[in-house]
Amino acid sequence: MTLTTRRNFLRTAGLLTAAATIINPFDVFAQSRAKSATKGGSKKMVLTFRPYDAQMKHVFTIANSSRTTTQIVLTEIEWDGYVGYGEAAMPPYLGETQSSVMDFLKKVDLSRFNSPFEIQDILTYVDAIAINNTAAKAAVDIALHDLVGKIMGQPWWKIWGFNPSTTPNTSFTVGLDTEEVVREKTREASPYKVIKVKLGRDEKTDKMMVDTIRSVTNTTICVDANQGWKDKHYALEMINWLNERNVNMIEQPMPKLLLDDAAWVTERSPLPVIADEACQRLTDIPKLKGAYHGINIKLMKCTGMREAREMVSLAKALHMRLMIGCMTETSCAISAAAQLASETEWADLDGNLLISNDVYKGMQIVDGKITLNDLPGIGITKL
Ligand code: MG
Repeated sequence: MTLTTRRNFLRTAGLLTAAATIINPFDVFAQSRAKSATKGGSKKMVLTFRPYDAQMKHVFTIANSSRTTTQIVLTEIEWDGYVGYGEAAMPPYLGETQSSVMDFLKKVDLSRFNSPFEIQDILTYVDAIAINNTAAKAAVDIALHDLVGKIMGQPWWKIWGFNPSTTPNTSFTVGLDTEEVVREKTREASPYKVIKVKLGRDEKTDKMMVDTIRSVTNTTICVDANQGWKDKHYALEMINWLNERNVNMIEQPMPKLLLDDAAWVTERSPLPVIADEACQRLTDIPKLKGAYHGINIKLMKCTGMREAREMVSLAKALHMRLMIGCMTETSCAISAAAQLASETEWADLDGNLLISNDVYKGMQIVDGKITLNDLPGIGITKL
C-alpha cells in the first residue's frame, strides 16, 4: 500500500493518526527494523475500517435468493508499525449490513488493552459489546490474528501446529441456473476436484442441476440444499438418488430448526449429513451431536478464528466430522479460514474466486487443493 492510499484508508475511517510508521507489513525484516525504530513509541492498537462491495462474477443464486454484489467491511488493526488485516462479509441472510458492522466497530475500543497478545481478553470483550454481529466480530478477530502472527513472524497454521500438507481440496460452487449456464459454470470448475452444487428447490430443478453437471463431468459433487427440503422422506429420497451420482456429502438438507427430522435423515443417510445454518457458534455443537454427522464452520458465523479453533476441538471431541466454509469474501477472510483447513475433511473456500474485485492475494488453490503459504499472520498481501 502506498503512503497516499494508506492515509486515504485512515482518513476514510476518520482515524488518521500522526505517529504511524508506514512499512510493508509482509517484509519481516523491515518489520524488525521498524519495531526497533518505534520502540518506546505509541503501543496502542488502532482499529480502522471501510465498506467495500464485492462484485460477483456471476449472479449468485441459492434456494431462496439471488444477488450480484456482497457487502463487505475491510478492517485494519495497527500496532507498533505492524498492520493486521480483517474482513466482515455479509450475505443478506446473515442480517448484518455494512452500516450495522460499522456501527458495531465504532464501539470497539482497543486502546484499553496493553498488547495484541491479549487475544482472549480482547475477543471476549468484543463478543460482549452486543449480541449477534458475528461478521463484525470476525472482522476484529481476523485483523487481530493477522497482526499477532505478523509480530511473531509466523503463520497461524504453524502457531497452531497444523500440518499444511493435509489440507483438503476445496469445492467450487455452481449455483442454481439454466442448463446452459450450469454447463458453462461446470466447465469453468474443471480445475477443481470437487463441485459444490446448490440444490433445495423442486425435484425437477434439483435433478436437472445434477444431471446437467454429470453431462459435462464425473467430478465428485458435494451438495448444499440450504434447508430447501421440507419433508424428511423426500430429503432421504433425494440423498439416495444423489448417492448414485458420485456425491460425497450433503449439507443442511432440511430447515435448521427441524432437529428431530434431521436426526431421522442422518440415521438413514448413505452420505454424511453436515449442519451449516443449524451450526453458528461453539455452543450450538453439543445439541447437533446425533442429528448431523458433522458441522460446517464459517468465520462469519462463529465470530472468527479464535472460536473456529475451539469448534474444531469440540467437534473432534464429540466425534463429529468437520467442514470449513465461507461466504462470498475476499482472499482476506478466505486465507484466515484456510489456516484451519488441515483439521477438516471438506473445505468450501471458493468465495474469493467468485468475485471479480478481490483486494488481497493469499491462500492459493493448487491442483484443486488448499495450499498454505509461509507468510506470517493469515498469509495475505495487498493486490
Ligand atoms: Mg451451506
